[in-house]
Amino acid sequence: MSKVLIIGAGGVGRVVAHKCAQRTDIFTEITLASRTLEKCQEIAAEIKGDRIKTARVDADRVPELVALIKKEQPRLVINVALPYQDLTIMDACLETGVDYLDTANYEPVDTAKFEYSWQWAYHDRFEKKGIMALLGSGFDPGVTNVFTALAAKTYLDVVEEIDIIDANAGNHGQPFATNFNPEINIREVTATCRHWENGQWVESPPLATRRTFDFPEGIGPMSIYRLYHEEMESLVKHLPTIKKAQFWMTFSDNYLKHLEVLQNVGMTRIDEVEFNGQKIVPIQFLKALLPDPGSLGPLTKGKTCIGVIARGFKDGRRKQVYIYNICDHQACYAETNSQAISYTTGVPAVVGGIMMLTGKWHKAGVWNMEQFDPEPFLAELGPMGLPHTVIEGEWPEL
Ligand code: NDP
Repeated sequence: MSKVLIIGAGGVGRVVAHKCAQRTDIFTEITLASRTLEKCQEIAAEIKGDRIKTARVDADRVPELVALIKKEQPRLVINVALPYQDLTIMDACLETGVDYLDTANYEPVDTAKFEYSWQWAYHDRFEKKGIMALLGSGFDPGVTNVFTALAAKTYLDVVEEIDIIDANAGNHGQPFATNFNPEINIREVTATCRHWENGQWVESPPLATRRTFDFPEGIGPMSIYRLYHEEMESLVKHLPTIKKAQFWMTFSDNYLKHLEVLQNVGMTRIDEVEFNGQKIVPIQFLKALLPDPGSLGPLTKGKTCIGVIARGFKDGRRKQVYIYNICDHQACYAETNSQAISYTTGVPAVVGGIMMLTGKWHKAGVWNMEQFDPEPFLAELGPMGLPHTVIEGEWPEL
């Protein structure tokens, strides 16, 4: 019996609920809990057969979480709320002795800074309690860590360089919208860029470095921009042969134009400002105005392509390998009522959960994805909707 508690009923929570419900062999009972009960009920109603129980919880409050976990008695908590809730949910898992999984690392609400230090600091307490936390089991972070681990295990003897490249070649037809939580998305892309080079982080202004990358399978050339992304922190720690690590993402000119204006007028600020006698946080107000990413599902057409180019040595010779997945927005919507960004995050969260519950990946403590054997994970990921392709070849330096 593997009962799972999903926390967060946004775009990603919807996919996790749909996919857990498909795997009756693993997830025998499912509870979906979030701050707004109606969103849980809406998702539960989409899934046939009364498979999903719902509950309301404020995941900022540890006692509320503990009470819910004690009532539901899950074996695993899948956290797909926001990065702000990571530590409170980990505290509640520690108190109740239940395994934990998330898709994004902790970020304090009042500082646009995300790093693993806060969650890695739980390792000894999780180990002592005999429970496991799996961090960053989405696509990037998540599958990109697993692709890097696969390159290191199978295709290269030594991985020296990685370029993680994330393309959303889809179009939702809106003037400006983000494809996951707007507040988290804008905080991420406006952060100072960092990449890893020769044993240290090198800083540059956000989105200041642009290249063109020719994406496979008919997607073609697109502009990619360098930004900081959290999986690089754990990858360079756990694969210390990596000398250079960069993360790249596509943005349309239209997205960048809107973002620049919003930044210039102060709408992306995360500190409180006084407005009509009230305190408001501009980025939270902006989130209220922008389209809900969940509403983009029926509108978004096209594909995503997310992958890793790993460069290094095999049998003493230089070698490169590109491992990627291509996902179609409309196919994702037809299956789960969500576009591909939520889908490519939610499916790996469920596969991570399957790894933990079946014992294929289970160790007490706090772990990142690349610390486990990539093969059992990838063997589940393809049939669950995200197959990968491996090409050995030559790509220009980025
Ligand atoms: P959404 O904003 O669509 O959903 C977030 C959900 O969390 C909402 O249901 C929200 O409730 C709920 N929530 C927020 N605060 C609380 C709280 N205090 N207590 C309980 N529930 C709360 O976000 P997404 O679904 O797009 O993203 C979910 C997570 O996935 C984020 O952490 C994001 O960073 C991560 N992500 C990871 C990716 C990866 O590849 N690794 C890619 C994309 C996203 P309410 O509706 O009431 O606000």
